[in-house]
Amino acid sequence: MSTRSPAHRTAAPESDWSAARIAEAAAELVAADGLPPIVQAGHPVLRTRALAFEGQLDAELLDALVLLMRRTMHAAPGVGLAAPQIGLPLRLAVLEDTWASDEESARARHRVPLPFLAMLNPAYTPVGDGRAGFYEGCLSVRGYTAVVRRADVVRAQWTAPDGAARSAEFTGWQARIVQHETDHLAGTLYLDRAEPRSLCANEEYTARWAQPTPERAARALGFSA
Ligand code: ZN
Repeated sequence: MSTRSPAHRTAAPESDWSAARIAEAAAELVAADGLPPIVQAGHPVLRTRALAFEGQLDAELLDALVLLMRRTMHAAPGVGLAAPQIGLPLRLAVLEDTWASDEESARARHRVPLPFLAMLNPAYTPVGDGRAGFYEGCLSVRGYTAVVRRADVVRAQWTAPDGAARSAEFTGWQARIVQHETDHLAGTLYLDRAEPRSLCANEEYTARWAQPTPERAARALGFSA
């Protein structure tokens, strides 16, 4: 046991990659055969602050990278993927949630389809005080799921790949996806915000706690939902 206080937790360092290195790595990713592996927790790229997109990639390479990330997200399968998850410390994420979900869960989680979005340099701010706690997982933390309390509504700003400034409000599950992916770009994993006692191996989650809300899990495992 350590007496070190949580205040000693240090912020993620910023990536030191040059613009040329970003472009070179992106070109290698799109030229490779097949889909890139999704890097797992413990890889430092997931713990650094990604670099703002400032034109390091030309339009053609950016479009090819966005397409590759979308295909990688679909294949995983997942509802979001941030560039650091394929080893690239760039503030870029793709989001899309059009998977079938059972009606009761979808209602409890305020989960409605999210059409495909590619976000450069996204940022979000919570709207109001509404918070909701649900199990979520991450393609970079394979095999586990945990409850995260997150803002129910957020306003997000980002730049689209065509350079247009965008802003929109997201609610429920869509807001959760926006927060999770934007957090990746700051070197934050969902586990940093999770209820530690809610942590489940996927097998235990599926066998016991795959209900629309985590209330039963909270009572049994001893966390507040
Ligand atoms: Zn993730």
